[in-house]
Amino acid sequence: MLALDDVGPYPRDVPITIPADLLPVDGRFGSGPSKIRPEQVDALASVGRTLLGTSHRQAPVRGVVARVRAGLTELLGLPDGYEIALGNGGSTLFWDVATCCLVERRAAHGVFGEFSAKFAAATTAAPFLDESVVTSAPPGGVAVPAPHDDVDVYAWPQNETSTGTMAPVSRVADNGLVVVDATSAAGGLDVEVAQTDVYYFAPQKSFASDGGLWLAALSPAAVERAARVEPTRWVPESLSLTTAITNSRLDQTLNTPAIATLVLLAEQLDWMLENGGLAWAAGRSAQSSGHVYRWAQEREWATPFVPDPADRSAVVATIDLAPEVSAPTVASVLRAHGVVDVEPYRKLGRNQLRIAVYPAVDPQDVVALTACIDHVVAHLV
Ligand SMILES: *Cc1c(COP(=O)(O)O)cnc(C)c1O
Repeated sequence: MLALDDVGPYPRDVPITIPADLLPVDGRFGSGPSKIRPEQVDALASVGRTLLGTSHRQAPVRGVVARVRAGLTELLGLPDGYEIALGNGGSTLFWDVATCCLVERRAAHGVFGEFSAKFAAATTAAPFLDESVVTSAPPGGVAVPAPHDDVDVYAWPQNETSTGTMAPVSRVADNGLVVVDATSAAGGLDVEVAQTDVYYFAPQKSFASDGGLWLAALSPAAVERAARVEPTRWVPESLSLTTAITNSRLDQTLNTPAIATLVLLAEQLDWMLENGGLAWAAGRSAQSSGHVYRWAQEREWATPFVPDPADRSAVVATIDLAPEVSAPTVASVLRAHGVVDVEPYRKLGRNQLRIAVYPAVDPQDVVALTACIDHVVAHLV
């Protein structure tokens, strides 16, 4: 075990070299955009003349959308009656879709990081809604909204990517739709989708694709809610969930999607399904994050940021470093060696490393990463 005494004072002015044999095969550990497997990029190149640059209204591209919808239905084990809808704009845009089309009068939010705070801010700012009820926890904790007589949507993230925390997903009350932000969770954490009405995400995290798209598993109650709420207020067409549903059922999007994003996503879904589905993918992330948390606990100069082990994310591990060990220096030495994006969420402002271990990341590369960090810290003399 490395002790703090071995680390020595910071800073030093001699650059640190990490031996090549310690480096991971792939150095991408970012929380989003995240590692895209080379096989996905090869598959994209192979359709470079047939799918890319062709109409999204014709059968070949619609076939990719159909593959994505069927693949997600299988991977997430959607209950009967649930369906996958998609549209352009990513999860941030979906907050506005949900605000306009799913919240009838008032939402309750669990807020425990930057992303959950943003959705709560969106419903709070909507002039046609009553003030949102917010249950919050400080960074590193988890908050699920409490039952409330007077709300019709319960919203929280399954994984708060900004802090590396994960929350349980289960119905909190018998009133209200359960709307879960699974942007970084879907595909990397187990879930029982029946516990939600809307399980929404974007493909640049556990699904190893590019950003700019939102996807949502919708219950019949969610579809019915949108159909009932939308006629009662002005909803821009680009934010209309019923319009998105109509298009999705035809394996299309309202406006032009990024075809490459869909191809990369379809490839990742096939890869997950061929290897054993969600249990396999989530197990791979749990193996990687388990290693990171154990590694940190065995170091005097590293501590998991999230105090309660049950709250520690299995897909995004946040590790605080002792003040004597500069996390920005460690991250910049790693970056100079092609090991990138382990910087913490910028607004958290901690001396921290944030390591995303989505299913695409090889657990062996995670072991290599921690060996590299050990090497760098040992040489911060
Ligand atoms: C990344 C992220 C978002 C934002 O996703 P965009 O597609 O960039 O809008 C929202 N929620 C969570 C939990 C995220 O991790």
